[in-house]
Amino acid sequence: MSQQFASDNYAGICPEAWQAMQEANAGSVPAYGEDPWTTRAADAFRTLFATDCEVFFAFNGTAANSLALAALCQSYHSVICSSFAHVETDECGAPEFFSNGSKLLLARTQQAKLTPQDIRTLATCRSDIHYPKPRAVTITQPTETGELYSLDEIRAISGTCRELGLRLHMDGARFSNACAALGCSPAEMTWQAGVDVLCFGGTKNGMAVGEAIVFFDRELADGFDYRCKQAGQLASKMRFLTAPWVGLLESGAWLRNGAHGNACAARLKARVAGLPGIEPIFPVEANAIFLRAPEHVLEGLRDRGWRFYTFIGGGARFMFAWDALFEEIDRLADDIVACVGNKPA
Ligand SMILES: *Cc1c(COP(=O)(O)O)cnc(C)c1O
Repeated sequence: MSQQFASDNYAGICPEAWQAMQEANAGSVPAYGEDPWTTRAADAFRTLFATDCEVFFAFNGTAANSLALAALCQSYHSVICSSFAHVETDECGAPEFFSNGSKLLLARTQQAKLTPQDIRTLATCRSDIHYPKPRAVTITQPTETGELYSLDEIRAISGTCRELGLRLHMDGARFSNACAALGCSPAEMTWQAGVDVLCFGGTKNGMAVGEAIVFFDRELADGFDYRCKQAGQLASKMRFLTAPWVGLLESGAWLRNGAHGNACAARLKARVAGLPGIEPIFPVEANAIFLRAPEHVLEGLRDRGWRFYTFIGGGARFMFAWDALFEEIDRLADDIVACVGNKPA
């Protein structure tokens, strides 16, 4: 099957992650994370973030986000997020479920980035006993629409959080794309900017499966190992969840993969620039592009075999992973050009 860009999860496992899994497959080691690979992976995170953070490994992003938010909240608390947030739109109520009822409070904005003002409005609109008490804020970096928070924007948000007594969680399903795009260190993007806990995406970065939950405030991680186990997120053969992280982090592939995805989105953007009726709906800042296009163009692309989603903003979403081939992107661009030319009668 030819390459598709409907989701960055269409990609396979990158060579560095695969190689580490293969090495981890030699012989027997202790189970449930008591193995050398897991220690090495957690240490690689501490090196990468240049701090003594506490690290846990879950199977996917839904579990990572939900359990991290649950660790920040009591059941009567609430979590402020964008109405575009994955925790709201794509996790089937898991954050509410794992927190035993903490409510998501949605900022009804036209875009996926939260502002300090959005947070302040939601956190201060009520203070009575009848309203779920705001306790945490979650931001997605880059956002579900492929946009970036600058370091200044993250710092401003965390400043507002501190002032209002809120904890800050970052959904980093595409964290590596954000680091590559902003050219900043993982530390600058997180704890140095006031982030308390990060969910760092491995799956979209080139692993088969797995996300890391990184607590910069170690006290918040108290009992988190039990939370993971109870939620069915403690891998017995943990080394296969952690060895690929060693492969990605120690080789630098995590950042190269992110940079590649970003370059691919920029390439498609450049190739379709100026075409009549075609334009990105959101700023193209990471590995995603959402193209507004006339219906006959969308249909034409589907007829030519291209798969894409239109569930955010009505445009065609294309996402690029570590494996995206420039030739295939150019083929997509050529097809867009051809479909634009084929005006309906
Ligand atoms: C993909 C993604 C996740 C994780 O999704 P899972 O399918 O649960 O692994 C989390 N947040 C965002 C923004 C995502 O795009």
